[in-house]
Amino acid sequence: MTKRLYHQDSYLKEFKAKVLKKIKIDNQPAVVLDETVFYPTSGGQPYDVGVIQDVPVVEVVEEGDEIIHILKEELKEEINSEVIGKIDWERRFDHMQQHLGQHILSGALIEIYGAETVSFHLGEKVCTLDIAKEKITEEEVKKTEECTNEIIFNNRPVKCYFLEGEEELKRLNLRKMPDRKGKIRIIEVENFDLSACGGTHCRTTGEVGLIKITKWEKRGEKIRLEFICGWRAWGDYFWKNELIKNISNKLTIKDSELGEAIDRMLQEQKEIRKELKEFKEKLQEYEARNLINESSLVDDGIKIIKKVFEEKNFQEVMGLVQKMINLDDSVVVLTGIKDKEEGEGAKILFACSRALNYDMNRLIREAGKFIEGRGGGAPNIAQAGGKRAEGIHEALDFALTNLKDFVKK
Ligand SMILES: [Zn+2]
Repeated sequence: MTKRLYHQDSYLKEFKAKVLKKIKIDNQPAVVLDETVFYPTSGGQPYDVGVIQDVPVVEVVEEGDEIIHILKEELKEEINSEVIGKIDWERRFDHMQQHLGQHILSGALIEIYGAETVSFHLGEKVCTLDIAKEKITEEEVKKTEECTNEIIFNNRPVKCYFLEGEEELKRLNLRKMPDRKGKIRIIEVENFDLSACGGTHCRTTGEVGLIKITKWEKRGEKIRLEFICGWRAWGDYFWKNELIKNISNKLTIKDSELGEAIDRMLQEQKEIRKELKEFKEKLQEYEARNLINESSLVDDGIKIIKKVFEEKNFQEVMGLVQKMINLDDSVVVLTGIKDKEEGEGAKILFACSRALNYDMNRLIREAGKFIEGRGGGAPNIAQAGGKRAEGIHEALDFALTNLKDFVKK
């Protein structure tokens, strides 16, 4: 059995103890001592870390009435030797702040809304509290924070003691009756909250510093609150304040006016996007007309545009080609694209005005062979992709020479 020194005094950082057992847990060396200040993962609170002699303690678990310290390497000391242990105080104190903060928060939720705490978890970054409540409004969250912080700022004493017997417990009017029997450890926030808990807590509410509920969401029948206390709350305030300060400096706007300024910027951005889209359309139309007008290949009144694009991607060429066949009802467009964005591949895209009788689908299947590619499409617009970029010109030449053989059947 390990005596849990943290039950009497959560502020003990160093201790002397006797080695009872040296064991292996999942191949890791571990040690059981006759007493310890190391808290094992339990009741929603994570384990302490630290050192025993100079060996780092990487995890602490409980098994029955024993506490097992899992070590980075084996302890040199033999069974029955005396060792000195020391916990990482910064981590422990953080856990104490979050844990007492949770008691006060749970107490406030019961007092104001009658909402019982279902579970609590102290995470690496945030703590979560699940409560039995159907929904919670922004206003209710604020009221809960106000009540919790008031209890913190009151700096009320926090006592802990053991009780035994059902009658005794009933008399206390605990926030929640414990499931376990025997000696029960009680944490009492003066004139506010009484609950059964084996964790570590600050000795006054003032040491919690501050609580902030950062998020909440519905989870089935429950509401899950995310909150942070103490140094964590300060850390959160610090980076958020830095961020707001930096943004307002960049925009040369007061922080209180940032909300409105961002709404205004988003609206402006929307308008600029719309304008840009209109400009691009106009530019494309201009480019399409230019290509049609500059075409020197005219056969029976049909204008043939043959061009290899090196600077445009496939989507841009597709848009341009569609514009051309829509602008003029007697054009044939034979294009190739060396698409740099898509590696060294080659694409060809053939199209003709709907009024014309060519079969671009059949034509592209033949021309595609020059780029070692495959493709297809509709009679008036078809595409093929292949790996042989140097074959693009041959493909277009083939299409131009044999165009007349590819009319719709
Ligand atoms: Zn507790």
